[in-house]
Amino acid sequence: MTGATARRTAGAVMLALAAVATFVFATASPDRPLGDAVWRAAVLVGGVSAAIAARRRNGTHPVFVAMIVLAATRMALIDNHELAFSVRDATWSQAIADMIANPVLLGTLLLMLRMRRGRLGWRFRLDIVSVALGAGLAAWIAVANPMWESGSSLALAVVAASGLPMAFLFVATALEMLLDGLVRNRAMQLLVAATLVNLVAGSARAGIGPGTDAQLWITVVVGTYAIAFLLGCAAMCDPAAPDIVRPSAEPTLDPRFEVLRLAPFAFALTLVGYLGSVVAPTSTADQAVQAVLVAAVVVAVLARLWSALTISFRSQLRLERRLHTDDLTGLPNRARLVQLVTTMLDDRWRSGSDPTLVQVSIDRFKQLNNSLGHSNANRLLVGVAERLSTLAGTSDAIVARTGGDEFMVVSRSATTEDDAIAICDGIVAELARPFVIEGSPVFVTASIGVALVPGHRMVSAEDLVQHADIATHRAKAAGRNRVVLFDDSMRAQLAHRMEVEHALHGALERRELLLYHQPIVGITDGALSGFEALIRWRRTDGALVSPAEFIPIAEETGMINEMGAWALREALSHLAGWTNDGVIGPQTTMSVNVSPRQIGDPRFPDAVAEALEITGIAPHRLWLEVTESMMLQEPELALLTLRRIRAMGVRLALDDFGTGFSSLSMLQRFPIQRIKIDRAFVQGLTEHGSDRSLVRTIVAMAQSLGLDLVAEGVEEVAQLRALGELGCDRAQGFLISRPMPVEAVPSTVRAIVEAPVTGVFDTRRSPMTASTTSSNAAAPETSPGSPRPMMAPLA
Ligand code: C2E
Ligand code: CA
Ligand code: CA
Repeated sequence: MTGATARRTAGAVMLALAAVATFVFATASPDRPLGDAVWRAAVLVGGVSAAIAARRRNGTHPVFVAMIVLAATRMALIDNHELAFSVRDATWSQAIADMIANPVLLGTLLLMLRMRRGRLGWRFRLDIVSVALGAGLAAWIAVANPMWESGSSLALAVVAASGLPMAFLFVATALEMLLDGLVRNRAMQLLVAATLVNLVAGSARAGIGPGTDAQLWITVVVGTYAIAFLLGCAAMCDPAAPDIVRPSAEPTLDPRFEVLRLAPFAFALTLVGYLGSVVAPTSTADQAVQAVLVAAVVVAVLARLWSALTISFRSQLRLERRLHTDDLTGLPNRARLVQLVTTMLDDRWRSGSDPTLVQVSIDRFKQLNNSLGHSNANRLLVGVAERLSTLAGTSDAIVARTGGDEFMVVSRSATTEDDAIAICDGIVAELARPFVIEGSPVFVTASIGVALVPGHRMVSAEDLVQHADIATHRAKAAGRNRVVLFDDSMRAQLAHRMEVEHALHGALERRELLLYHQPIVGITDGALSGFEALIRWRRTDGALVSPAEFIPIAEETGMINEMGAWALREALSHLAGWTNDGVIGPQTTMSVNVSPRQIGDPRFPDAVAEALEITGIAPHRLWLEVTESMMLQEPELALLTLRRIRAMGVRLALDDFGTGFSSLSMLQRFPIQRIKIDRAFVQGLTEHGSDRSLVRTIVAMAQSLGLDLVAEGVEEVAQLRALGELGCDRAQGFLISRPMPVEAVPSTVRAIVEAPVTGVFDTRRSPMTASTTSSNAAAPETSPGSPRPMMAPLA
């Protein structure tokens, strides 16, 4: 038994004992003053100490605690002598205690409800008014009117009668709390039970009349009050008690229990109907009071019905609005936008103007989200929404948020391409000003896609939105931060893309994928240092598809993970085969391209380990080529994956170096051992002086960081020579060999070995004439079955 359960069990036992004791003492005759005093003291001390314990151990709210202390006090002050008689015989001394205690107790309950909900709400107010009026009518008929007629003052009669409506209000309020998401809260269940038992006690008390056995009624009434009080104490001591007053933003309404809300309400109505038909008025005054009370109940019921209807109507409206607006910015969402554009299109013949859609997508928002944090990124989106709305406000345009970082501006006044461009210029200018987030400026750019209604064709709103989408994608693909207008050729490209995607599914199983290999050689000694594996897709019709066309699709669809794992195994098994056949030495390496999505896959390092194990290749013979773009998505995850791979002994090369945006910081943060200078710089080497100095800088940097350096896309002798002069280690390119199928590798290797390229710098010995070079560069990729070494053997 844990300490908490032990305490709870002990508490329950004590409560049960206290209940029995109280009951026993409550039945004591008023003639035994000692017993009377003892039970009053027991109730008071028990109640107060239970309250203190609940506050200390449970953290029960002071309001709740105060309520129990008050109830205990009230219990201790019950006048047995007066109880012996009907409530109709009440005197002021007894009535005043109720007059103070009941409203305070009710106030406490209402306060608890308010604390939970933040407000009481009109529906609930009407509910309790109806209940109060219905029970009030009953109390008038059963208590107040008879008292008044038998000579009591009207005030005393009303106060004495108020106990019954009050007891009803306790029940109604407690029920409301219970239904406010606390149906399964035991403390709340106990509290509801307490109010119900209290109501029973109150009703029993009103039933005491001249003919009843006084001693028995005292026993029943006081005993029932005592049980109600103990239930209240138990509620407060329950561990779930603190939850009752804990604010809940969205009470979890359970429709199964909703009908319970009607219970007090239905009870009040039934009471009114019953009394109205059974009890005849005793005087004109009685008749008037009854008529007023009945009328008031009817009004309250009607108001309640009306409020229920308007609430459901309003919540329906709110729901509709919510379905059509974006939570963050309050702008219309995509669904609403399609509706609006549809209306505009339907209306175009009458209004004579066509809607023009301008989609604005914030560039690299994922990255901004990472660097700014989620809430600041949201603030940025709200800022963008505000600027676009301001801009739209000056014309008759509408702004919607159509996706995470996407907005759509719809204009009816822009009908020509020039108008559309003018809108885009306005947007670009708006976004050019930095946003200030937490005091620091944040700069954003956007890729903008424009869709105009084509003059010659019918379009739907969905079509237009899709056109704007396609144009935006195009703007992103073209390097972001630009405007692209949709035209029909884009649709054809999209269709082609979808066709490729469809065909790519299952290409691996159909064995349509294969690897080509391109040698990497040392520049100074011309020795073969390794290969880069480059994937190819031979489609069923025999066409060879370039990876540039299908790798991005494989990336997007996630097929790349499987494809990449295959490429890894395949490349390493080729390497193992050549090594076993003695084609290459045991140190020759294999470079395999890895896409960002693979780096983001936590299973990737295992795939690498598995490929190494299956093929028996030493980890240092494998180079994985990664690009800077992998850092864009989840830099932390990427770093983790790369470190794991690095820890296996596999080496990492940074591909396409110089084309990214944060090359230097990458090199410092990531465990990179090689840089591959992008083809663009190699090509500019012999033409632009600037590229020469850039390559010189890269070489110096690589040397200082101890990194290996490979130049890509070497097509001319002059480039190779320039690279050698600058101190670059290795080269790869059409000049040395084009990528070739696996069968062509042995003969190409032989050619490279037999032709020491060392002589390449010695112009007198160089066999690489300009004509050899250019013919090689122009040659198509070697097809399988016809191995064709790209480099002429050196004499
Ligand atoms: P990359 O990694 O930069 O590969 C070098 C690309 O340059 C290859 O294009 C190669 O054929 C080409 N190339 C080599 N030497 C020369 C030259 O002297 N002149 C010219 N103009 N081009 C040269 P390829 O094979 O079309 O591959 C394109 C890209 O596709 C690769 O660029 C790589 O990013 C990606 N890729 C290829 N295979 C895979 C793969 O297995 N997995 C992944 N994730 N990506 C791959
Ligand atoms: Ca590569
Ligand atoms: Ca490259």
